Amino acid sequence: MTSSHLLSRRSFLTAISLTTASLALPSRRLFAQTDASGAPSPFIANYRKQAADVKVRTVPLRRNVSALFVYGGNMAVLPGKDGKVIIDSGVSTSQSQIAASLTAISADPITHLINTHWHFDHTDGNQWMHAAGATILAHKNTQSRLSTPQYMEIIDTHFAPAPAAAVPTDTFLDSKTLHLNGETLHLGHYAPAHTDTDIFIYFEHADVLHIADTWFNGFYPLIDLSSGGNINGMVAAADRSLAMASPKTIIVPGHGPIGDKAKLSEYRDMLAAIRDNVAALKKQGHTLEETIAAKPTASFDAKWGGGSMTPSAFTTLVYKSL
Ligand SMILES: [Zn+2]
Ligand SMILES: [Zn+2]
Repeated sequence: MTSSHLLSRRSFLTAISLTTASLALPSRRLFAQTDASGAPSPFIANYRKQAADVKVRTVPLRRNVSALFVYGGNMAVLPGKDGKVIIDSGVSTSQSQIAASLTAISADPITHLINTHWHFDHTDGNQWMHAAGATILAHKNTQSRLSTPQYMEIIDTHFAPAPAAAVPTDTFLDSKTLHLNGETLHLGHYAPAHTDTDIFIYFEHADVLHIADTWFNGFYPLIDLSSGGNINGMVAAADRSLAMASPKTIIVPGHGPIGDKAKLSEYRDMLAAIRDNVAALKKQGHTLEETIAAKPTASFDAKWGGGSMTPSAFTTLVYKSL
């Protein structure tokens, strides 16, 4: 792991680490909301500030598909004669680093941007990529959420509608297939999991599967309950991804290092086991506080609890979504 990747991951975790405090103290408002003038909340402003000087790391995957590790959600790029097809746009303040990394891959213009879901760390660069020539494609719910005011409870942050140029204009509901640059891309919508906007992108010939924030590889995932996410959907999304993958498939998570079917399977089993533990406690009538005290994640914490979704924060998300 390179130092830039470590920095990127650590910064990401730092950026969302405050959210665990807000989960532990649900009545306390750690983040001011967007003010009447529409100025960004401190959370958004800080995230953009952190992203301004972070290095981007390009990792060739297979055939001509590469991953870009940025400050924000993991990106992917498919260059070629039809122009670059890009998965997610990172944070707006990383524009110069991302643009330089894309140019280093090839001179092809940017023609297609696909958003995996509506979250800021995957869509904040939409505006500049659209200005550079990209048509933006996403699930219909991503278009809806980006074009209307949103509230993310987990970070107590309001999001104003994105500028018109940043909103996807090409949308689908269940699935869509694209033939570009000699590759076939299969896009599909997951039932609500991390949000209600999540899609996967499968590059058939390269056998690369980008599954967005349905997978945080190596740590407990953030589940955005206020955007329709829930733990049962996270398990179902992992099952659906596993059914699409072979042992050779390269799987790109929304956050964390590149993985494969074995790693995703381990993550899926962790999610299901914790879901079952929390569900049993809740069914017995235990309150959230009692459920946290019972440590339903204990046997997984050493491996998965090192991120900003602490055991108690993750337990809270699972409990609330059951
Ligand atoms: Zn993300
Ligand atoms: Zn997300």
